[in-house]
Amino acid sequence: MAGAESVWEKTWRGSGKDKVWIREMNWGKHNVRAEEKNREKVEIIVGRERGLMIYIGCHLSVTNGYEAMGHQMVGFGGNTFAWFTRNPRGGKSKDIEPADVDALSDILSEKRFGKLVAHASYTMNLCSANPETRNNGLDMLKKDIEKMEMLPGHYYNFHPGSHTGQGADAGIEQIAKGLNKALFPEMKTTVLLETMAGKGSEVGKNFEELKKIIDLVEHKEKLGVCFDTCHTWDGGYDIVNDLDGVLEQFDRIIGLDRLRAVHFNDSKNDCGSHKDRHEKLGQGMIGMEAMKRIAQHPAFEGLPFILETPNDDEGYIQEIATVKSWFE
Ligand code: FE
Ligand code: FE
Ligand code: ZN
Repeated sequence: MAGAESVWEKTWRGSGKDKVWIREMNWGKHNVRAEEKNREKVEIIVGRERGLMIYIGCHLSVTNGYEAMGHQMVGFGGNTFAWFTRNPRGGKSKDIEPADVDALSDILSEKRFGKLVAHASYTMNLCSANPETRNNGLDMLKKDIEKMEMLPGHYYNFHPGSHTGQGADAGIEQIAKGLNKALFPEMKTTVLLETMAGKGSEVGKNFEELKKIIDLVEHKEKLGVCFDTCHTWDGGYDIVNDLDGVLEQFDRIIGLDRLRAVHFNDSKNDCGSHKDRHEKLGQGMIGMEAMKRIAQHPAFEGLPFILETPNDDEGYIQEIATVKSWFE
């Protein structure tokens, strides 16, 4: 597995069967440009190919601190991870010890981890019809960002929100309003909007809604998108039969430059079900072959992949090993 020294720039040329993915990166002194068609590398223009790589990990508990999570993920065989910034249902958060965060930073650079992807509490809703819930959400967002800044340069992912009957457009406005109060130019954290399954009154059920939020935010440069494979599939995007088409839509509507992380989950339900029930890799309706194609797609290269599958530790260790085996 290669290190984190550089990120590929990805784009494509042509369309349909004739589409060619072009990947470019600065790799040491080399300027590498790789073209591939139908997953076959067709041409390397300059430099040498370093091979596809992946950052893979899962959610960990922050109960024992940050350094402990780093050690745990090394033990799991992964090179990224996620954690809840506070109790996912409750909303309480633990204080951060600077020495603990520094110890984690050392592990991250020594083991060449990818970006980490913290996850906001599920109770954080910036677009509830209830103003008190909205204010609480904003308060959580501000405090979480403040904490994230102690471990600069990573990702903070949140569910855009549920409009609870106000309608998607009102929800979109309120979410953007919250972000405009919380984001600031000096921050080093990138805030990710997660693609949602469209369960209940969830906002972010399609790429258009996410784009509308981004458009209304002043500090857009602080925003990215986390692509949850279960949610996107449940939301009606056929990533099994038309992954390229879905990514083209993503690029046209949001822009692939906003794509920063992947929640790597199979789904218990069919495309368009709007259910949001995650399944273990290969045991759901997306299936192992499609999961592998997603992991290996150039549009996702270099991004952190976070497993949110229903597993115990042993299950995660196995899934991490499976995903890594696709890159050997
Ligand atoms: Fe999530
Ligand atoms: Fe997710
Ligand atoms: Zn989910």
